[in-house]
Amino acid sequence: MNEGLTQRIETLAQWMYEARHLVVFTGAGISTESGLPDFRGPDGLWTRRDKGLPPAPMKVPWDAVEPNAGHLAIAELQKLDKLKFLISQNVDNLHLKSGIRPDSLAELHGNIARLRCSRCEKTVDRVEGQPRCLCGGALVKSVVDFGESLPHRDLMLSYEHARKSDLFVVVGSSLVVTPAADMPHEALQRGSKLVIINQGETPFDGVASLRFRERIGEVLPRAVRRLKRLMGLFE
Ligand SMILES: [Zn+2]
Repeated sequence: MNEGLTQRIETLAQWMYEARHLVVFTGAGISTESGLPDFRGPDGLWTRRDKGLPPAPMKVPWDAVEPNAGHLAIAELQKLDKLKFLISQNVDNLHLKSGIRPDSLAELHGNIARLRCSRCEKTVDRVEGQPRCLCGGALVKSVVDFGESLPHRDLMLSYEHARKSDLFVVVGSSLVVTPAADMPHEALQRGSKLVIINQGETPFDGVASLRFRERIGEVLPRAVRRLKRLMGLFE
């Protein structure tokens, strides 16, 4: 099993090295290693709800949650100029906290730490006493509630980059909610390789080019270290 893991990490690193348009897609699974609950994992919000249980208590206070090795590995991919775009379903602000550039990030469900202008869609940090955007529009919470439409800019950019991708890496998403489930489909249709790092099953398991069921923190940081070797960089 471990030997198989090393081999798959090697393959992932090689593909990252060769990729011209690497897109990463993250879901709640990446943040469970920071102590946040996911949805469909063993202790996930929906798994517990289906059993009639309340959400598991937070292991750490919300504002003390920090990016973990998985988030940092993705930020490292950006520093290496390998990551072309990051699409996230998470609202926890951990990607921006890890140093991801806002212009290379789509947050499909918004961000708890940011407000969105209801007129021009620009987002700004949530601060006290700033009721209006520079354009005059009202600033409202950016988090998208169930049934609300997703932010147009984030959605359009996600589709655009999924179509351009030649390597599409899913990290910690079960890919069952649309439009999340549409993105890997778009990528596959354009001939992109699909890599899935998720402990639970996804509807794309049969068509994935490479599949990891291990913890994200066991896979991504090692793949990025291996990539750096391939790029001639040593730590
Ligand atoms: Zn505005």
